[in-house]
Amino acid sequence: MNLDMPNSPSRIGVLPSSSRIKPASSRIAIVSPAGKSPNKSPEKGDQNRVQDKVATLSKPIIEDITESGVHIICPTGDLIILVQVNRNNVTEEIKFRVCSASLRKESVYFNVMLQPDQFQEGRLLAASKGTFIPSQPPPLEALPVITIEDIGRISNIKSVNLLMIDVFKILHGKEIARSSVPLSNLANMVVVADRFDALQCLANYARTKNLYGRLDSKLFPNQSAASTISLSTTALTSLDEDRINQQAYISLNLSHAPWFYNSTLALIMNSTTSIATEHEADEDSPMWHDLPITLRDELTYRRQCILSTISSIQDYFLQQYMSSTKRQCRNGDYACDLFQLGQMVRFFSKIATLDISRSLLLNDTTSSHQRLDKEWNINRLIESLRSCPEYQIDNYHQHCGLRVKLLPCLTVLQEAVLQAGLCLDCWKSSNRWECAWTGAKGPLIWKVGTNNVDTVSPCGKNHGVIRDMFMAVDRIWENDR
Ligand SMILES: [Zn+2]
Ligand SMILES: [Zn+2]
Repeated sequence: MNLDMPNSPSRIGVLPSSSRIKPASSRIAIVSPAGKSPNKSPEKGDQNRVQDKVATLSKPIIEDITESGVHIICPTGDLIILVQVNRNNVTEEIKFRVCSASLRKESVYFNVMLQPDQFQEGRLLAASKGTFIPSQPPPLEALPVITIEDIGRISNIKSVNLLMIDVFKILHGKEIARSSVPLSNLANMVVVADRFDALQCLANYARTKNLYGRLDSKLFPNQSAASTISLSTTALTSLDEDRINQQAYISLNLSHAPWFYNSTLALIMNSTTSIATEHEADEDSPMWHDLPITLRDELTYRRQCILSTISSIQDYFLQQYMSSTKRQCRNGDYACDLFQLGQMVRFFSKIATLDISRSLLLNDTTSSHQRLDKEWNINRLIESLRSCPEYQIDNYHQHCGLRVKLLPCLTVLQEAVLQAGLCLDCWKSSNRWECAWTGAKGPLIWKVGTNNVDTVSPCGKNHGVIRDMFMAVDRIWENDR
């Protein structure tokens, strides 16, 4: 939430007297998706054609704009917002005719700024209203102008006009021209809505217009239920880091739980720079590159716990085969155990999960997750382990090796990893730390096939079972041990 106060010192002015309101017929590019343009009332047939045009055009559509360069968001609006954006050392100025009541209703920022007795902007607006003729839309040139210099850290988009038109239209309860909003546009809209403290309004719009569902079907065309918590690991890892960050940022701010879950899981699974602890905020980069530090810490910690758990499988079986007290071979043959141990070391070294120079220090539990390089993609790591061949010293020793023991563990692991994303309900609740992994204490021992009892989380789900598995001090990866 952005609690900044309105621009100070106030920058207020009125349009130059040369700015004359033009009759509707002389305006350019008059296109309104719902045929709601008050400047022109097309016949029904025209209206349908206009709507069809809007639906089929791939290019963005410029809404009503006067020749004096004012975008008309509300034709009867009582205020001009002048947005000044400095990009690449060039200052763009864009004007919008808006309705102050609509802005005040949906945006805490504008509500505070436009109070008649608080700031200069509000006082000027109140004073200008006294000069208008009641029951007539005030002339454009008579409207007070309020300058907004900061719309938040958006990405380097082509057109700030279109972004601001969309945001202002949504704040006015109007439909935007495109039914399907690209992910980066939605992320930029969240940045501006957050700046104006109007996230709830955008969240309502995104939900009622099903922006998430439309984007899901574009991003994951082969995934039938992409907006539910059922994305395959392949789908999760197919998105690039910027898109995953955008989804996390949007879902956190607009409270869309499925995206929050999926994007946080993707950030945990992939090796990403945005959650790295050494990540530093770049003041020129868009807001979604700076997820809240508590969230980043939680994601980093979950990733470390998962890598540590994967490492523990490797450590566990190496220890079992190195043990001189219990034979792993089905025929109790020591030579078979030694052969399998050799094959295991060779296999783990080949897929680079084992560094022979130091990883045989098996009791060094503090460094276990560090042995797995942080560039690992967790999904690919598990798949690499799954490729373990079935070695046998001879035909009397089938199924004595690692593969038959390892595959069930990897199945358990893979299912658990898919449940390691963050639950938005819990993360946003006052009881966040009951469900967070950071600061929590894991059990001393976790055994495969057991479901540890845990109290139910605030959201009604039991996240503790998965947390216990990934946070246990020690893990037993076989049922009969
Ligand atoms: Zn054997
Ligand atoms: Zn929960």
